[in-house]
Amino acid sequence: MENGTIKKKAAPRRKTPARPKSLYSQDELKEIFRRFSIQRPEPKGELEHVNPFTLVVAVALSAQATDAGVNKATRALFKVADTPEKMLALGEEKVRDYIKTIGLYRNKAKNVIALSQMLVDRFGSEVPRTREELIMLPGVGRKTANVVLSMAFGQATMAVDTHIFRIANRLRLAPGKTPDEVEDKLIRLIPDEYLYHAHHWLILHGRYCCKARKPECEHCVIADLCRSPEKTCDVPAPLVELPPQLFGPTP
Ligand code: SF4
Repeated sequence: MENGTIKKKAAPRRKTPARPKSLYSQDELKEIFRRFSIQRPEPKGELEHVNPFTLVVAVALSAQATDAGVNKATRALFKVADTPEKMLALGEEKVRDYIKTIGLYRNKAKNVIALSQMLVDRFGSEVPRTREELIMLPGVGRKTANVVLSMAFGQATMAVDTHIFRIANRLRLAPGKTPDEVEDKLIRLIPDEYLYHAHHWLILHGRYCCKARKPECEHCVIADLCRSPEKTCDVPAPLVELPPQLFGPTP
């Protein structure tokens, strides 16, 4: 206290996490995501769902399965069970019948029933809005929770699936040995203004262009910026504004 007044302490400065090492400058990263934003202005996930509950179920079922395969099974399932109560009323055996074309369906059916029960018992039949609560649900891991937070609740997250993991490492964009490491680096590297859609842009880029077996570099909108040793075309570098239609069809 000085002269009868209380001296206020300056609020501690929030530390900005250090930018992880990357082969790409901030300007190049901005350019990469700017092009993705032109190519797919409103990217959407491809898992069909009608509300947050069916989204949680669809994402939980999609582990080691394709979105198309999950959609085929859930279309009929969600017609009869689009709430935790209806799913419980259906019962594990019938859920199993609906999803038996999906890999690991026995275990997944068990989880769908268990997560429905937990939603009813602990969360008032509502899908919770925090990662900590979401990962309490049986069959829901960090990746599923991130997808739900992004698609159902509009939060900017980075759910690292097989495509994102491959691209982050292949392009040396955010190399990491585990999905968590890649997620952490991408979140810190991707310019804020592009973070919300980045998850879908990277998945769709991996699914339709930078494919696992053979990347289609000749159709790639970032070929001139890409520093992947697996790049199969040699595109000259200058950063020029090119209309997206020059790069072929997009899904
Ligand atoms: S240039 Fe080829 S390797 Fe690089 S991001 Fe495009 S498709 Fe992938």
